Amino acid sequence: MSEFKLLVTGSKGRMGQAVISAAQAQGVAVGATIDLGDALAPALEKCDCVIDFSSHHFTDELLTEAVKLKKSLVIGTTGHTDEELAHIREASKVIPVVFASNFSVGVNTLFWLTRKATELLGPDFDLEVIEMHHRMKKDAPSGTARTLVEILADVRGLSYDSDCRHGRFGDVGARTPKEIGVHALRGGDVVGDHTVVFANVGERVELTHKASSRDTFAGGAVRAARWLADKPAGLYDMQDVLGLK
Ligand code: NAD
Repeated sequence: MSEFKLLVTGSKGRMGQAVISAAQAQGVAVGATIDLGDALAPALEKCDCVIDFSSHHFTDELLTEAVKLKKSLVIGTTGHTDEELAHIREASKVIPVVFASNFSVGVNTLFWLTRKATELLGPDFDLEVIEMHHRMKKDAPSGTARTLVEILADVRGLSYDSDCRHGRFGDVGARTPKEIGVHALRGGDVVGDHTVVFANVGERVELTHKASSRDTFAGGAVRAARWLADKPAGLYDMQDVLGLK
């Protein structure tokens, strides 16, 4: 059997570089790398699985080619439109896809703890999510913050689109028990901080994760690519890879 090979897209970026190092550390061969302006199809033909940390704008082209050539896909990009998300779901009927807003073990544990805490604390606690990232990050709120809000909304029977409030400025009145707040801070070189606040009268619980290195995301993405190697077509996330479900 020939050696399992990765294609790393967005290879000149912060995450792309970290993925190339993580592959080396885990003994996984990188068969090709591409960045803006490079041709996708010839690179993809040489590889078994793609790890994509480029831009969500690239998602459609990547999905179409990966389906055509039957290659597995690890998608790390964030900020997708509804159409792009629909395309990911469609492609996963034909090829195996891991799609995760965050590949770190710590954040996936935070996802698990957030669900548990929301269930245990009950409906009297107000829910707020705060995230901070480096000054170059393009999308807000982060994909991870969005996943956290989706977990809170799921437990409370709310909807991300109609019950989520971005920031709180001006004369907007008191918060309603239904709403979930999400706040995005940008500055400096912060790799990624996320806090979920559960606030009631007289007490408050806060769950926080702080990433200090991109290696944690990159290592998780390479682990996800290896895990995908013998999986049938389907849409998986990092909780599947880590066996947290
Ligand atoms: P970055 O700007 O440092 O790197 C992106 C790279 O992709 C750049 O080199 C750029 O030239 C390249 N690129 C852009 N469009 C391309 C295209 N059409 N074809 C090929 N290459 C293209 O960004 P980054 O900090 O490395 O983050 C990349 C993405 O990963 C963002 O969407 C970010 O939110 C996401 N991210 C996800 C996780 C996670 O755990 N899921 C962690 C960190 C970052």
